Amino acid sequence: MYLKALEVQGFKSFPDKTVLNFGEDITAIVGPNGSGKSNISDAIRWVMGEQSSKALRGGKMEDVIFGGTEKRAPVGFAQVTLVLDNTGHLFPSMDESEVAVTRRYYRSGESEYYINRQSVRLKDMTELFMDTGMGREGYSIVGQGRVDEILSTKSTDRREIFEEAAGISKYRHRKEEAERK
Ligand code: ATP
Ligand code: MG
Repeated sequence: MYLKALEVQGFKSFPDKTVLNFGEDITAIVGPNGSGKSNISDAIRWVMGEQSSKALRGGKMEDVIFGGTEKRAPVGFAQVTLVLDNTGHLFPSMDESEVAVTRRYYRSGESEYYINRQSVRLKDMTELFMDTGMGREGYSIVGQGRVDEILSTKSTDRREIFEEAAGISKYRHRKEEAERK
């Protein structure tokens, strides 16, 4: 499995539609301070369903929408699409060799999620990534401070990391959901 492409539009410092194509090998993103490197990893985290604006280094969710500069007016919505290779069936529920996930967010606060261009709920997006190690609860994006967190958090929090790695967090999640009903 690897990330094939990322398309950002109206997200943080990317007012125009910008497509990044990744290869199967290692990709490194380099650039001066403030040029948007971290905004790219934020976009990847966001499209997979991140709900915490703090995790996205903002105060409120609207901060992910391009807010304008001296030369450019703000835009009305942010959209990110992430294309993932699925030839190894990382997503067992998907037959397609490629899975494209999209998230769009308007200033009104309205969110839209798509999996292979079909409109879905946030819940479907979260479930898609569950047990893949990716997604908002996943361990595949290691942000600053995360290593310390893994070493020092409570044993229950550490267990969640191992549950995700072992591929059983889906069942814990469903059990908790059933108990709430
Ligand atoms: P560093 O090397 O310092 O880590 P970086 O390349 O990771 O820098 P980012 O943090 O990705 O940089 O980008 C910061 C830039 O993104 C800032 O110039 C900031 O103004 C811009 N930015 C963030 N959110 C928005 C937004 N909503 N609208 C417009 N610009 C934004
Ligand atoms: Mg950075």
